[in-house]
Amino acid sequence: MDTVYYLGKIGELSLKKGNKKFFENRLSENLRILLDGKKAKIRVCAGRLTLEAGVQDREACEWALSHLLGITAWAEMSVCEKNLQAIIEKAQEKAREGALSGAKTFKIEVRRGDKTFPLNSFELARRVGEEIHDSILQTDVHKPDIVINIEVREKVFVYGIQHTGVCGLPAGVSGHGLLLLSGGIDSPVAGFKMLSRGMKVDCVYFHSYPYTSEEAQTKVEQLAQKLAAFGLGAYLNIVPFTKVQQQIKATTDEQYLTLMMRMCMMKIASIVGKHIGADCLITGESLGQVASQTIENLNVTERATDMLVLRPLIGMDKREITDCAIKIGTYDTSILPYADCCVLFSPKHPSLHTDDSKATALYQAMAIEPLLQEAFDNREVKKFVALM
Ligand code: ATP
Ligand code: MG
Repeated sequence: MDTVYYLGKIGELSLKKGNKKFFENRLSENLRILLDGKKAKIRVCAGRLTLEAGVQDREACEWALSHLLGITAWAEMSVCEKNLQAIIEKAQEKAREGALSGAKTFKIEVRRGDKTFPLNSFELARRVGEEIHDSILQTDVHKPDIVINIEVREKVFVYGIQHTGVCGLPAGVSGHGLLLLSGGIDSPVAGFKMLSRGMKVDCVYFHSYPYTSEEAQTKVEQLAQKLAAFGLGAYLNIVPFTKVQQQIKATTDEQYLTLMMRMCMMKIASIVGKHIGADCLITGESLGQVASQTIENLNVTERATDMLVLRPLIGMDKREITDCAIKIGTYDTSILPYADCCVLFSPKHPSLHTDDSKATALYQAMAIEPLLQEAFDNREVKKFVALM
């Protein structure tokens, strides 16, 4: 059977001294889940993850590595014995691959994990470099088009082109959050931000059928599926929100509609969050982005729950958020045209600076708590697994 080999560079968890073994085990278990039953050898050792699988599973391996939280970079590599001639041949192959993809210059970088190897790093780089310089590529140690890496470990790993990893901490090492997931650009990014700190993330979506379409819900399901790939699975709680919105509309002045709706969302999310044992709520709010996200209005929604509320995007601007959405692959889904409920119920002149006592009085006047409980009771739960 033909084999493919990959190397992953472990990021921050190599700093976690006491827990290192726990984090490393988690990383390899997570990769195994992403590989979804494919036969593979996974090892984590000395800041490196290695993966060996059948060549027919190349695509699955690359998908898994590009979704594995906890690695900063990954590359397909060649593996050979600790023998100079074998190393030169593998490095030449990588140089030729580089030349084919347009590289003109190269440099060699050596990591000599095995200090018994007879050549030191400098000598090894020089000897291998001589066999590539002029005949395949030109040396440029300052700004090379391609770096050919040689790592001398239990065997020798040789790799060229590297892909950026998703970084962060391995999924499932930092508690459990409930993400308020809408179909917009922001909330999936907020979910990803917490996933990438190792948090397990489940989702809640407030659906206002028929004011919002079935497509709006499908879009949120697709976003939950994307997040589930990084988080190794997620539950989406779909809460029927129409009656709550109608009651808000019937009992509240136009300018406070959005804020009351945000309070109701936080209240229902808290019921869901406690029910599933979450440690916190997560939202995609960013300071000053829309009327409900002024500091005063954030104070109001904060007080609508006694759970910790994490707002990982609070200091990010839309451009940064959008760049992240593109990077994690949620952007194209988020910009599909189906409106979520906020858009349909947004007043022309929303109150920007509502004080807390005013908000509490308005909230109580709606007498809406039974409807919130009913919405929770009628929720539908869908399960998403990490799938290529
Ligand atoms: P997004 O792009 O995430 O939709 P937004 O800029 O449209 O955010 P708002 O509509 O004010 O902002 O929503 C703020 C946050 O409230 C969202 O990031 C999300 O966490 C939550 N939220 C809004 N609408 C919904 C919904 N229908 N279901 C679940 N959560 C929602
Ligand atoms: Mg929105």
